[in-house]
Amino acid sequence: MAGSFGAGPVPDSADVVVIGGGVVGCAIARALSRYELSVLVIERSPDVATGTSKANSGILHAGFDAEPGTWKARLNVQGARLYAELSEGLGIPRKATGSLVVAKDAAQMETVADLRHRGIDNGVPGLEIWSREQVLAHEPNISPEVAGALWAPTGAIVCPFLATVGFAENAIRNSVRIVTECAVTGLDVADRQIVAVNTTRGRVATRFVVNAAGLHSGEIARLAGDDSFTIKPRRGEYILFDRSVGKLVNTVLFPTPDKVSKGILVSPTVHGNVFIGPDATEIDDPEDKETTAGGLAGIIAGARRIMPTLPLGTAITEFAGLRAAAGKDFVIGPSPVARGLVHAAGIQSPGLTSAPAIGEVMVEVLQDVGLRLRQKASFVPVNPAKPRFHEMDRATQAELIAADPLFGRVICRCETITEAEIVAAILSPCGARTVDGVKRRVRAGAGRCQGGFCGPRVTAILARELGIPVTSVRKDSADSWLFMSRADLEAGEGVHA
Ligand SMILES: Cc1cc2nc3c(=O)[nH]c(=O)nc-3n(C[C@H](O)[C@H](O)[C@H](O)COP(=O)(O)OP(=O)(O)OC[C@H]3O[C@@H](n4cnc5c(N)ncnc54)[C@H](O)[C@@H]3O)c2cc1C
Repeated sequence: MAGSFGAGPVPDSADVVVIGGGVVGCAIARALSRYELSVLVIERSPDVATGTSKANSGILHAGFDAEPGTWKARLNVQGARLYAELSEGLGIPRKATGSLVVAKDAAQMETVADLRHRGIDNGVPGLEIWSREQVLAHEPNISPEVAGALWAPTGAIVCPFLATVGFAENAIRNSVRIVTECAVTGLDVADRQIVAVNTTRGRVATRFVVNAAGLHSGEIARLAGDDSFTIKPRRGEYILFDRSVGKLVNTVLFPTPDKVSKGILVSPTVHGNVFIGPDATEIDDPEDKETTAGGLAGIIAGARRIMPTLPLGTAITEFAGLRAAAGKDFVIGPSPVARGLVHAAGIQSPGLTSAPAIGEVMVEVLQDVGLRLRQKASFVPVNPAKPRFHEMDRATQAELIAADPLFGRVICRCETITEAEIVAAILSPCGARTVDGVKRRVRAGAGRCQGGFCGPRVTAILARELGIPVTSVRKDSADSWLFMSRADLEAGEGVHA
């Protein structure tokens, strides 16, 4: 099976079907692509990284939070290490910022000391308790009320979209097929063995199914009669500040955690922004990504406890992400009901960090339930590097423009993103199909104007490169049409042909 990406037909059969094109499904697909197998990823959206993987804190946690002995503890530490090894080759922007858990008083210093012991048990290297003076020297904008902190040098930040795209692209380069705009609607089980996956694009015969459907993984399990876990969505809201805030913060700043969450943090992003959030609100609707006045007020109050003078005037957007909570730990392993069905479910934080390690462990889980593996001699572990024009010096930029004039056309003025980069993002093996897909890959539209200026030009480039009418370009989801005729508007329909 040749690698491919897009809304094409599903094949009649596959050795392994992975349900869900989030960071977990794509990391699993990449891990499986090392073997002589036909691997099919089924994703119901037009792109990868459109679920929880697109809206999170982007932190590679060091691994001191999770209870020792849990999947979370093991896979977090292993995942953080794997990102350090893999990111550059896969084109995943990552910065080794380290992280601080900030304590405000003696009681919190005790919690921080406990976290250090827990981290040591989990195998986290280099943890140190820092004095007030050390913290203030490292983070001059932090609240002067700080008493000390836990320093974790292996904490880091990453671009969550490009992590997902990096795993997906490499999987495709190694023959994985990712079919988008295709929803799994049923699982056929005969004599307690998975035999096929039913989708909105047809039936795929298979004996091995990986359930990596995030917020919907409980529903997928139940399609096979497996009700061993349920998913409870837990929303987290954020505010993102413009890059003009400069070096407001050098590292990831966590408050001392409580029992439910790691608390409201203040953190840089790999692209030079700063964000505050998330809170943690249990909700019922797995699609409800609304931000709320109360939630945003709460995260501002929480963040001010760490950094009293927040640059609220530079806020450029708010967003929310939904954690797929299934209990205290990840749900990793074979279904107790249907042979051949294996779960990578309930992957809440630190799921982004753990993803590459989940990929490794799911290969073992599949082997345990009977999947035969043979190494692929032709496996290519890296993706070709993609030029980032705005990060280059003038001389290199001039060379690029001389070689390809499209590097001389800046489409996104806020982030200095050129037409050549946008075209490459559309034409790459895991290419953008939507306006937000372009934004997530190359940041056209991710700056201060949030696409107000470049949005129409990106839309026109997408139409040209994909060979579709401009009225068929979508913002993000399958039915997020950008244009409507008067008749369709009156009928409540979008234009898409
Ligand atoms: C607020 C918040 C902050 C977080 N911060 C961090 C952090 O800093 N560091 C960290 O390590 N982790 C963090 N996480 C956790 C991390 O984001 C998740 O663990 C990770 O993104 C989960 O990835 P996933 O692939 O399991 O899920 P998703 O990204 O949701 O992917 C699941 C995919 O399955 C698809 N799907 C669902 N049903 C079907 C179907 N029937 N057919 C086909 N496809 C289907 C969906 O469309 C979706 O694309 C955070 C999470 C939240 C919400």
